[in-house]
Amino acid sequence: MRGLRTQRSRVGVGCVRLVLNGRKLWITNAKEAGLFVLFATVDPAAGYKGITAFLVEKDFPGFTVGKKEDKLGIRASSTCELVLEDCRVPKNNVLGETGKGYKIAIETLNEGRIGIGAQMAGVARGAWEYACKYAQERKQFGKTISDFQCVQFQIAQMATEIEAAGLMVYNAARMKDAGIPFVKEAAMTKLFCSQVAERVTSLAIEIYGGYGFTKDYPVEKYWRDSKIGKIYEGTSNMQLATIAKLLLGGGK
Ligand SMILES: Cc1cc2nc3c(=O)[nH]c(=O)nc-3n(C[C@H](O)[C@H](O)[C@H](O)COP(=O)(O)OP(=O)(O)OC[C@H]3O[C@@H](n4cnc5c(N)ncnc54)[C@H](O)[C@@H]3O)c2cc1C
Repeated sequence: MRGLRTQRSRVGVGCVRLVLNGRKLWITNAKEAGLFVLFATVDPAAGYKGITAFLVEKDFPGFTVGKKEDKLGIRASSTCELVLEDCRVPKNNVLGETGKGYKIAIETLNEGRIGIGAQMAGVARGAWEYACKYAQERKQFGKTISDFQCVQFQIAQMATEIEAAGLMVYNAARMKDAGIPFVKEAAMTKLFCSQVAERVTSLAIEIYGGYGFTKDYPVEKYWRDSKIGKIYEGTSNMQLATIAKLLLGGGK
């Protein structure tokens, strides 16, 4: 939360608290959550070493969950703004150490990218399964549309990309579990799986023909849900920047 600024103040006898002020847009599941991890700049002069992570409970005075966004996809999950107005946080609620928030945030993002890859591989598979079933049911010109070679090839291409996406997820997760550096592979996984999800869900709509463009069938939802994969936990541009940096030097 780069937008956050904190000031320190004494509250009560011998009880040191921090006072947080700021806003943060786009918080997943904010409406349902009871506990939030917030990153606040405590010492702006220290750059990234001035960022600290805090545990903030939803009933802390000065903390409110703001507007719920009206989103294109992943509509079953709330996304809201968090607002902190003189929110007093006990010093014991520092997560890890003061000034170590940036490390926590980056490590969380790196791992999270494998999770988004898995989410996108699952979205792609879900749409593909519907498309296969529909292709074997829908009849045109006296045949099921799965009898047409061009539809068969679309199904085969989709399945191949889903297989590759799944293997990338398992590989990045395996590397992480084994303690092998996995940041590049996690970024590649998120980048590729979100591309696959968008391509496969879009093709699934086409296999449904006109019905694919309606809300009577689920494939339009899969397509809408796929779009977020290229945006959250770092956009595709940011994944490419990470991968390039790790390939060409300047990081490990
Ligand atoms: C549904 C949803 C849920 C979210 N959940 C959370 C959450 O729970 N917690 C949380 O902290 N955040 C969350 N986010 C925020 C999300 O991580 C950001 O929206 C995302 O990282 C992009 O940041 P931005 O919106 O500021 O876009 P911008 O940074 O404004 O990017 C706009 C465009 O410019 C490009 N761009 C920007 N900077 C660069 C650069 N240096 N190099 C190349 N291209 C660049 C981007 O790639 C993008 O195409 C969520 C967002 C959404 C939409």
